Amino acid sequence: MIYSVVWFKRDLRLQDHAALHRAARQGPVLCLYVIEPSLWRQPDAANLHYQFILECLSDLADDLHRQGGALHVTTGEVVEVLGRLYRHAPFAALHSHEETGNDVTYRRDKAVARWCREQGVAWHEVPQFGVVRRLADRDGWQAAWEARMAAPRLPAVAARFLPAPWPEGPPPAPAALGLEPTDAPLRQAGGRRQGLEILDSFLGDRSGRYRGGLSSPLSAPTACSRLSPYLAQGALSLREVVQAARDRLGDLPDGPDPRRQGLTAFLSRLHWHCHFIQKLESEPALEFRNMHAGYDGLREGEWNEDHFRALVAGRTGWPLVDACVAMLRETGWVNFRMRAMLVSVAAYPLWLHWRPVGLWLARQFLDYEPGIHWSQMQMQSGTTGMNTTRVYNPIKQARDHDPDGRFVRRWLPALRRVPDSWLFEPWRMPADVQARCGVRVGTDIPWPVVDLDAATRMAKARVHGLRAQPAIKSAVAALVDRHGSRRPAIPHSRPSRSGRPAPRAQLTLDL
Ligand SMILES: Cc1cc2nc3c(=O)[nH]c(=O)nc-3n(C[C@H](O)[C@H](O)[C@H](O)COP(=O)(O)OP(=O)(O)OC[C@H]3O[C@@H](n4cnc5c(N)ncnc54)[C@H](O)[C@@H]3O)c2cc1C
Repeated sequence: MIYSVVWFKRDLRLQDHAALHRAARQGPVLCLYVIEPSLWRQPDAANLHYQFILECLSDLADDLHRQGGALHVTTGEVVEVLGRLYRHAPFAALHSHEETGNDVTYRRDKAVARWCREQGVAWHEVPQFGVVRRLADRDGWQAAWEARMAAPRLPAVAARFLPAPWPEGPPPAPAALGLEPTDAPLRQAGGRRQGLEILDSFLGDRSGRYRGGLSSPLSAPTACSRLSPYLAQGALSLREVVQAARDRLGDLPDGPDPRRQGLTAFLSRLHWHCHFIQKLESEPALEFRNMHAGYDGLREGEWNEDHFRALVAGRTGWPLVDACVAMLRETGWVNFRMRAMLVSVAAYPLWLHWRPVGLWLARQFLDYEPGIHWSQMQMQSGTTGMNTTRVYNPIKQARDHDPDGRFVRRWLPALRRVPDSWLFEPWRMPADVQARCGVRVGTDIPWPVVDLDAATRMAKARVHGLRAQPAIKSAVAALVDRHGSRRPAIPHSRPSRSGRPAPRAQLTLDL
């Protein structure tokens, strides 16, 4: 029998699934997901990702079951699994979405391509969202994104699904994959159904709170869409989210409505999603090397393990930073501004290189998406050369976004006893205040790891000193050519009729 294999990766859905559609047109389809031990051994992998994916797979298997099909979930390295399948019953074609993953998935895909060539199996890869393979430069990228997002969504297919080729036991326990068993107990549950409910609640009502609520860690958990992990694992397609948001925007009654601003701002983030992933697609080395080589050597030789340990333990002494680390540990999520602040604190006053900090955060973020993550890690650490350096002061951020200390008190119980007037800088409490409230600095709460002002001043001077050098400045144009956005993102508008690329402009992050 001639059949195709659809290899599910970060596209755990049946709806708007271009690879499945293409395969179904060619005949019977076997749906495959591979749990790859080599990927789970990587330092960016964590049990919370694994559990979330298993939940998505369960929804996907149910959906397939309803269509009379089955999802074959097996464990092994992909080339070895494909070989086993092929020996069991040779297949003509392999279908999957393009993936912009980490270095290991990149090398694995090359091995799969080699295997397919050797067996005479055609491997058809189709784009998953707005990222363009083998892109020469960013001219025209915006138009390509728009065309893909505006194309009709693909309905769930009525294919001839094949049963699983052999029985499989339950998926391996985390420990068998070398994963620490810890999960984030309050994390979002995986699965398309969950994703759709969250999308619905955001479009229905929460989007009205988006603009005003996305910066504060108090309001952001409900004001932000919270769709990131579902987009990262493809339980929802980016196009279906873009189109649903545009439809909602179009349906809003005339007159002022905060949902209009909310949905418009949300749509620009969906554009950034692909804009950032495109950077890693165009330059996979961004996972390891500074985007601007002129920054090489800036932090590399000065790793401070004590600083890193304090950050990871949530014991930097700066309440907002430590509260964010505590929240991440429990929920697997913090909002953009707090992520940027965490990285800024790591990169400037703590003077830590972005790579180990990024690996730790990748394991904390339920929505870990390599393309967004590594581009953002570099941007917030000041190593892209082409973005304005933003240094977030955690004390100012706390005053602006958690003025009553509700957030820090929620996540750091010791601060519940600290009087309001000392909340932002509790280490300055005089001894008698410490005695009265029963919170001792150095015991119940940590001293700040470094003097924030002095350390930040020194760090900024070093980064800005480099930035001002003529050789560093002159290399920026080439980076903008390769990675810069060509105009401010207005993703809900139509592309220009002339089809001509818009004038070059840097992406502005209005956060
Ligand atoms: C250091 C750092 C690392 C990050 N790592 C990741 C990551 O691994 N995965 C990830 O999805 N996001 C990452 N982000 C971006 C952003 O913080 C999250 O997308 C957002 O907080 C997710 O919550 P949400 O879905 O409610 O976002 P919303 O604000 O509701 O945005 C909707 C969607 O737009 C996309 N998006 C939002 N903000 C950005 C952005 N700044 N850049 C690119 N895409 C964006 C995401 O897909 C998100 O789900 C990172 C940001 C920083 C500063």
